[in-house]
Amino acid sequence: MTDQSGLIGMLLAAGEEIEKQKLYLTELDNVTGDGDHGINMARGFDAVSKKLSTLEDKDIGTILKTVGMTLVSTVGGASGPLYGTAFMQAGKVLSGKNEIEMTDFLAAFDAAIEGVKMRGKSTVGEKTMLDAMVPARDAMVKAYGETGDVKAAFAAGIEAAEGGIEYTKTIIATKGRASYIGERSLGHTDPGAESFTFMLKAVSERL
Ligand code: ADP
Ligand code: MG
Repeated sequence: MTDQSGLIGMLLAAGEEIEKQKLYLTELDNVTGDGDHGINMARGFDAVSKKLSTLEDKDIGTILKTVGMTLVSTVGGASGPLYGTAFMQAGKVLSGKNEIEMTDFLAAFDAAIEGVKMRGKSTVGEKTMLDAMVPARDAMVKAYGETGDVKAAFAAGIEAAEGGIEYTKTIIATKGRASYIGERSLGHTDPGAESFTFMLKAVSERL
């Protein structure tokens, strides 16, 4: 599926997409939270982009762990430790690898989801990034199992993540800042579900 330089390209593309969507993500967070999600994520990925050029000779696990640590240390707000843990856990699974296949990606994606659940003490149905991540993972496993086609699996994952974004409109937030406004969070999408989906799309375009 990809090697170190391919992965670095994907991570740079994810960062560029986050930068492009910064204002949109922040507007969403204005409604249900404190209006910093886009700014938080863009700051984190700016730091990640600067680090990536020093990581070209490192294995994929090390690259992902470094991305995670950089996000934890540069992103203010809940999303930093959450995405940071996701990348660090994904990195652990891919330790020592210079190339990965789709099955490795899916194993790392699993670990990332478990990392978010553990760190956030959260699960699906709470109006968070998990409501995009978990359906995307499930759809990708299914589509890859049926077709063995990486691009088809990503397309299915993106469709499911977009469905997850829509689903967040229909539920009340029970985790994070959005939970402070309770029922008033109904009707609005979760910014973390959107940022995850933007990153998944950016990665998919680099395949
Ligand atoms: P903060 O809420 O601290 O301002 P951000 O605005 O950067 O941080 O990130 C908010 C996003 O983080 C939410 O949209 C949601 O997707 C995600 N989030 C918040 N708390 C949790 C949690 N406990 N588990 C999973 N995701 C969470
Ligand atoms: Mg916020």
